[in-house]
Amino acid sequence: MQFKDLNLHPSILKAVEEEGYTTPTPIQEQAVPLVLMGRDVLGCAQTGTGKTAAFAMPILHQLEQRNLSGPRKISALILTPTRELAIQIDDSFKTYGKYLKVRTLVIFGGVGQQPQVDALRRGTDVLIATPGRLLDLVNQRLLDLGHISLFVLDEADRMLDMGFIHDVRKVLQLLPNKRQNLFFSATMAPDIQHLADAILIRPVKVEVTPVSSTAEMIDQCVYFVDKANKNALFLSIVEGINAPSMLVFTRTKYGADRLARFLVKNGMKAEAIHGDKSQNNRQRSLKAFKDKTIRFLVATDIAARGIDIEEMEMVINYEIPNIPETYVHRIGRTGRAGRSGKAISLCDFEEKAYLKDIEKIIHQKVPVIDNHPYPMEIFEVIKKEKTPRPTSDRNKSIAPKQREGTALPSAKKGKSSWFRKRKA
Ligand code: AMP
Repeated sequence: MQFKDLNLHPSILKAVEEEGYTTPTPIQEQAVPLVLMGRDVLGCAQTGTGKTAAFAMPILHQLEQRNLSGPRKISALILTPTRELAIQIDDSFKTYGKYLKVRTLVIFGGVGQQPQVDALRRGTDVLIATPGRLLDLVNQRLLDLGHISLFVLDEADRMLDMGFIHDVRKVLQLLPNKRQNLFFSATMAPDIQHLADAILIRPVKVEVTPVSSTAEMIDQCVYFVDKANKNALFLSIVEGINAPSMLVFTRTKYGADRLARFLVKNGMKAEAIHGDKSQNNRQRSLKAFKDKTIRFLVATDIAARGIDIEEMEMVINYEIPNIPETYVHRIGRTGRAGRSGKAISLCDFEEKAYLKDIEKIIHQKVPVIDNHPYPMEIFEVIKKEKTPRPTSDRNKSIAPKQREGTALPSAKKGKSSWFRKRKA
């Protein structure tokens, strides 16, 4: 299928062509005709599938057909959980709509509201918003949702994860009953299905690449390493790679800061992004990363959600996520819109259980790199002898065995049990 087969406005096709897109992605092929027909759509698709364009293009098309002269009233509302996603969706609307009369505006929290209020006064056809700021402005009577005929709930699963369900319900109460609804979520757990049922009317379900098959396109590997050696191994790995930029994931904000600091200390250009950083700070880091002024962007999962970084060759999981789907989301950043990439994971002893869960959902074993300078040196507690001898005696005679040339970091003197080396 070609873009021209989607019957979109020629100005949208022109903009899409300029973006260098040659063919629609599967979600675009399926969703665009349905949206143009005015149907409610339940889209099961994750970031990276081209889902933003799948709703942005037909919404722009529909709005362009209307009489867009005079004062603008908000006709389409896109609700999305994070500021980064909101900005990215706005960028997409502006890109595909650059030759149209349709106006787009984005509002989100964490920044002063006055410029957004001023922009709202000038009028817009499409409003992209995060729930908190949207409700703030509605409560101050600075925003009227009474003319919305198109409503998109983007990343519904994240919206629930991030605790926005009440806000979403409040927004829904403010919308006119007669409207077209599009609902996108990467997963369809029962509570998400429940929310979809409450919003959509006779929807058509559109589903693309289940999470597990996304992982098949990506070249993955894992290094088993002790926690204490992760930094050193990380350095040795990245020194041997000539990728200009790498997205690195940690589980915690503290971990992201610590790793970024370590990299900087070792002469690397790195910055961390996470929820405790200001919006301006995050945007600066993201821009520096996109411009390739820094090589490493160390991110927590929440902060990384929705950041759109093109041509990501490589992601590194400095820490393994405890939710297996998160792993797929992380590595999916390398294999966007048909491109394939590489994902390296560093796994310590405690994270092995997480890796097992991941391998279950991706239906494959992640290949292990054995040959590296910091192999795992974990010691396994062996059951105490049945009749324990006096402590003094045990300390004297039962010392941990040491393999040639290796330290025994966790074997402490005087411990009541002893340790045996175990290969990862
Ligand atoms: P999304 O799933 O909306 O986050 O889109 C993922 C990435 O794919 C974005 O960087 C888009 O610019 C890009 N993209 C969207 N549609 C296409 C397409 N038809 N061909 C190539 N790239 C696309």
